[in-house]
Amino acid sequence: MADWITEAIEANATFLSRIDAERLYREPPTRRVVITCMDSRVNLEAIGIPSFAADGHSDSRVAIIRTAGARCPERSLFVALFKADVEEILVLGHTECALVAADTEIASIVEVLQARLDGRDVAASLGGIGVSSDEDLRRWLGTIPGSAEGVLAQMRVIRSLPFLPRGVAVHGLVYDVDTGVVHPVEEPDA
Ligand SMILES: [Zn+2]
Repeated sequence: MADWITEAIEANATFLSRIDAERLYREPPTRRVVITCMDSRVNLEAIGIPSFAADGHSDSRVAIIRTAGARCPERSLFVALFKADVEEILVLGHTECALVAADTEIASIVEVLQARLDGRDVAASLGGIGVSSDEDLRRWLGTIPGSAEGVLAQMRVIRSLPFLPRGVAVHGLVYDVDTGVVHPVEEPDA
């Protein structure tokens, strides 16, 4: 297995030889927050959030929160809301999300866990996080029945946060990892 620290330090030397430190991104985030999945297939360029340029610069000031299943992490959102002058929040889910698969395949997750625990007791390990059944594990993980349903559920969670400032808009999209197309998610009666 490659030593990631060695790779990372070598990559840093290459980076430093390429960039002008004066051009490094220093602006704080403002106005917009995207909450998306930690899945590496979700390409934020698909919704207009550019990657860092080769010289280390960026024109984007969107705060980016990545979690499993694009679930809203309340504390991160709280900090984003009150450190920056946020006006809009976008929940960006995606097709083929592991948290959707987990909703119907929780037993196979437990099997993988069993294999990776190397003989340690699965029930005891799950008990340590307060989980004593497949249903508990589903709830603890926050599995979702479908990509759009998951986005809508998180939009509702965010809209009902007691600390959400008035006037902050909450949007939803699902990114298709096969085609790169995004599909809007809205309240059915909106
Ligand atoms: Zn995902």
